[in-house]
Amino acid sequence: MKLSLDDLSFTIRNVDGPLTSELVRRPGDFGLGQVPAKLAPDATTTMVCGFCSTGCGLKIHLRDGVAVNLSPDTDYPVNLGMACPKGWEALTPLDAPDRGATPLIDGTPARWDEAMTVFATKLRDIQQRHGAESVAILSTGQIVTEEMAFLGALARIGLGIPNIDSNTRQCMATSHVAYKQSFGFDAPPFTYADFEQSDVLVFVGSNPCIAHPIMWQRVLRNQRAPEILVVDPRKTETAMAATRHFAIAPKSDLTLLYGLANILISSGWIDREFIARSVSGFAEFAEFARQFTTDKVCAATGMEADDLWQFAELVGRKSKRVSWWWTMGVNQSHESTRTAQAIIAIALITGQIGKPGTGANSITGQCNAMGSRLFAHASGLPCGRDYLKEEDRADVASIYGIPVERIPDKNSLAYDQIVDGVKAGRIKALWVIATNSAHSWGSSEELQEALNGLELLVVQDMYPTTETALLAHIYLPAAGWGEKDGTFINSERRIGLAKKVRRAPGAALSDFSILRLVAEYCGVAPMFSEWSSPEAVFRIMQRLSRGKPCDITGIAGYSQLDADGGVQWPLADGQLLIGDSKERRLFADGRFFHGDGKARILFDVPRPPAEPTDAEFPLVLLTGRGSSAQWHTGSRTGKSAILLKMHAEGSLVEIHPDDAAARGITNGERVDVSSRRGVAESFALVTTTVSPGTVFMPMHDEQVNHLTAPEVDPYSRQPSYKYCAVQLRPALQ
Ligand code: SF4
Repeated sequence: MKLSLDDLSFTIRNVDGPLTSELVRRPGDFGLGQVPAKLAPDATTTMVCGFCSTGCGLKIHLRDGVAVNLSPDTDYPVNLGMACPKGWEALTPLDAPDRGATPLIDGTPARWDEAMTVFATKLRDIQQRHGAESVAILSTGQIVTEEMAFLGALARIGLGIPNIDSNTRQCMATSHVAYKQSFGFDAPPFTYADFEQSDVLVFVGSNPCIAHPIMWQRVLRNQRAPEILVVDPRKTETAMAATRHFAIAPKSDLTLLYGLANILISSGWIDREFIARSVSGFAEFAEFARQFTTDKVCAATGMEADDLWQFAELVGRKSKRVSWWWTMGVNQSHESTRTAQAIIAIALITGQIGKPGTGANSITGQCNAMGSRLFAHASGLPCGRDYLKEEDRADVASIYGIPVERIPDKNSLAYDQIVDGVKAGRIKALWVIATNSAHSWGSSEELQEALNGLELLVVQDMYPTTETALLAHIYLPAAGWGEKDGTFINSERRIGLAKKVRRAPGAALSDFSILRLVAEYCGVAPMFSEWSSPEAVFRIMQRLSRGKPCDITGIAGYSQLDADGGVQWPLADGQLLIGDSKERRLFADGRFFHGDGKARILFDVPRPPAEPTDAEFPLVLLTGRGSSAQWHTGSRTGKSAILLKMHAEGSLVEIHPDDAAARGITNGERVDVSSRRGVAESFALVTTTVSPGTVFMPMHDEQVNHLTAPEVDPYSRQPSYKYCAVQLRPALQ
């Protein structure tokens, strides 16, 4: 259906009016209006949380048709009645006084038709003058899957924008690539029940106490008196709660894992039958791993030989069920893909996969990073297809009902390459959606300067006040979680439903509706006539998934997701959810997704980070989540007075007492943290949570990425945020 300016004026006329029945959704709805008509005005409805990848179910309590409060859903299979502080406060950021309520052009309020006209005109003009490669998009893992799918298809197929990537590159690109290369598909194998069913849980570079608190609660429900092993240079909250903490030297994890593999293989603590049936590359790996002797591993990691051997015994010889879990300490590193694959290799050679309480398990970061990995059209075509393969392009073209020539035969640039293009002036126009690159990308001051030099920066976000939105030529006000419909896919592959239970403020629109407007104003709407609503796109996603490992053709629709507490993929046509099948893991039959049915072991010789410490910058800066009450750059969680009270005020840098004394720094003193790229003004927290030679700052601190280095992993192009050389000095008064 072609949208007209009358539809727009309908929207604009009503944006400040009361909620009336006239505003209930209708064909051509742009996202404004009451809650869905199926909900009674004072009902309680359920939906998934929109912050992290745990994907907790929340009960949303409505009064007069509007969400006024929430509580954790006791029946949802993920969180079983629990929620972390962010979940409890999920409605608060919607009411923030700085919500964007109208489009802005150069900071001046504008009508949607004005903003869209300027956007479309400038976009086409820049494409014509500088070529297609001069335009790029940076998106997010925070919007619903249907919006991601629509955005990617609109950009690459509809608008001829060749370069689109998202902030999932910063969190989950490594897991995506590691699984795809090892298993033949990006397939996290586990279900959350595995937290409760393990005899040994190994957390590598993962701090679930803070980063995934409800997953940690699932660990605490484990009745098997498990050993909990934590590998982390820092004594995190999880390390403090673990039965063993291995405080290895920063970025020595790959050497440690190869050393463990060597002990396991040479001691015979492996599952030879499983290896013969289900694993390729074992002989080469065994030969490679022989060089990682106990002496070599201990020298690199700082571990004692006894500790290394006890670790190997626990994961190899003594335990029936071992599960391995990793998060950003692995993914955000200069050799992250091979590190993740070393974890996968150990799970494979010990046969610890496909059974209860086992697995090589990547814990996802954002609420919908998994949706992005499967459907965003960014690093590949949907559901594991490849832009470079003719049959995959033809497949997608036939599903979309378009000529195959419309599908690009080239991959997009990755996030770091887009940023380099902006800095070099090759990219002239950037469209940023629901992410705050000016805070979250490394060397952020340099990026902010480069963003200022763009001919066109369009930012589509809930708030015009993020560091990135403040630089925008055009700001598009977007609805947030709770103000639109769609689905998220969580860490255990569970597709959960998000619902519209609030009206977005003023003229703000759902991202889905904004995309429809862009399609309309850029003249490509007819190509997307079937993409008329989130659930219509969900049907397209189902068609894309047919016959793939992530097949979801058996899901009846949003109603089933609602009734069944979400559904883990796959659920193919004819497959039913009965009994325990609501919590399913992959690979129970020992068959993986490569053509030979086997998983592959992949490995490389470890190498040091590009930026060594030296006399000028002798300390290693570690970054990570500093509080369960804050989320990423704080653009939402920073709006809650309760959440703000739950984490330390101001900037803090953790430093070991020996390093502090050597610099004459006392606890609470103002300090300057400097790297080769910038300076952060902070306060010293003198503590033994960090080892000598390392310091720690939380990622929520807007200064932290003034310091971090731009190095990326060569396979996933995920940036390394866990290692850069810094110096600390008392601040000049
Ligand atoms: Fe939301 Fe994650 Fe907290 Fe659950 S753990 S309530 S999904 S932020």
